[in-house]
Formats: sequence, C-alpha cells, structure tokens
Amino acid sequence: MRGGCRRLTRKAVCQTLMLTACLSAIWPFQGCVTPAEGGQQFNILSTQEEIALGDKMAQQIETEEKVLNDPVIQDYVRVIGERLARLSPRTDVPYKFTVIDNPDTINAFALPGGHMYIYTGLLKLCDNEAQLASVMGHEIGHVAAKHHGESVTRQYGYSILMGIILGDKSSQGAQVLAQLVGTAGEMRFSRVQEHEADRLGMDLLWRAGYQPEAMAAFMQKMQQIEQEKGGGRAPLPFFSSHPATADRITNLQNLAMQYPADLRANSPTYAERYQEKVLSRLN
Ligand code: ZN
Repeated sequence: MRGGCRRLTRKAVCQTLMLTACLSAIWPFQGCVTPAEGGQQFNILSTQEEIALGDKMAQQIETEEKVLNDPVIQDYVRVIGERLARLSPRTDVPYKFTVIDNPDTINAFALPGGHMYIYTGLLKLCDNEAQLASVMGHEIGHVAAKHHGESVTRQYGYSILMGIILGDKSSQGAQVLAQLVGTAGEMRFSRVQEHEADRLGMDLLWRAGYQPEAMAAFMQKMQQIEQEKGGGRAPLPFFSSHPATADRITNLQNLAMQYPADLRANSPTYAERYQEKVLSRLN
C-alpha cells in the first residue's frame, strides 16, 4: 500500500527542467509522492499524467510498428483483453489492445496508462486462448499495480516526463521519448513487481473463467524456446524482461494450485477457438 499523496518541491537543474517545472505548476493533475526503496520519497506520475504519457508513447509506437490488418484477430484479442480488464482492480485507465504484425517478435507489453501491444510472434507461440489471456492478464497486472508509473519515474525523473507529456519538443525531450518507446517492450520491473503481476494476472485469468495452469504452461514454452535457441543470440524480448526460470514456473504452478482442483479440472483453455480465430489466420 502506498502512503498518501502530498506535494514535493521540485528543483530544476537546467533550463529545460526549469521550463518543465513551470509548466507542471499549471498542469491540472498532480503526481503523488511515493516512498522509494530505502525510505527516500520521490514524485510519481498521477493517473492522468500516466495516461497522457502512455498516449504519447502509443502514438510513436504505432508510427514505428505495423498494426495487424486483420479485424478478426484484432477484435478477438480486444474482446479477451476487455474481459480481463473489466475484472481488474484498477478501473481508472482506458485499457486498449492492439496486435502488431511482426511474426518474428515474441513479445507483449503494456504502456503506462493501459495501452497494450501483442505481437503476432507471441500469438503464434500460444497453444490456446488461455495462454494468451495469461500473458495479457500479467500485463494488466502491471498496469493495475501501477508499476509503469513507478518504474519510468524512477528511471527518468518526474520533471523530464512532465516535459514529454506537455509536448517538450527539445532534443532532450525527443531523446527521452525515443528511449521510452525503444525500451517499452523490455521494461524491467523488480522481482517483487513481477510476482505481483503474476498473482494479479492469474487471479484475472481464473475469474475470467480460464484454466489458471495456462500461465505456467506458457512460461514453460518460453523456457523451451530459449533453451533451443542456445547461447550467443539475443534473448527474446518477453523473455529478457520475464525470465522463465525454474523458480518462476514452480511459483506459477503453486499459485494455480490455490484454486479448487475440481473447478480447475473443468476450466477451459479454448484451444479450438484459438486455432480457428488466430492460428489458422496467421499461417
Ligand atoms: Zn512482467
């Protein structure tokens, strides 16, 4: 749980930061202060600021990446996402789901504010709808627990991010936005945050009616692919930010076992529907 919000006095250290700090004084939304590790406090983006930053990043991503031109798959993935998002403990962000046409990239990620991108490479790796929903549930878990705002604020600082939100066109602003977008697919969260996203994601998966074991099953597929690839090659983006370690897989299996065994045994994975709506259209 976070402590209450209160204002922080920000000291600008260069002209850009001073401008940003002045602009942030007239920005209608106020970031809140959260305790960082070690007890030090720092200013974190408010929900409105997080949404505004995510919108800027999404605009950039959608000019750089190719959005999949298949309304059947887009609608199918959106419906799954909305089903999970409706159950999310966080309802103050506009969740949005977009499939990117890139069969060589096994990745899915969310941005601050709830935009989520799923690559066709990841769709092809899933055996069934429940596995896809497990990845999407995990990413919604990060959004629900407000991990993005905390992570990017820690990395870049509140004032720099406010500059981007307010349309900072300086080379520094452009550089930071490019960095944010460039690393969005490999955003690093702490182990504690990953565990929290797993727990929240599995809860969404279960409450949406899917088999909870699907999350560990997908992680095992990731682990297998990584082992087959062998050393010397760049890791999969989703793998580099979500290591499929034996510990993690065991942990996911244990999390799934918290749900009643008889109900789990009858929970669907929707493999046939997934084959028809996704796999048959991508091959
Ligand atoms: Zn994660």
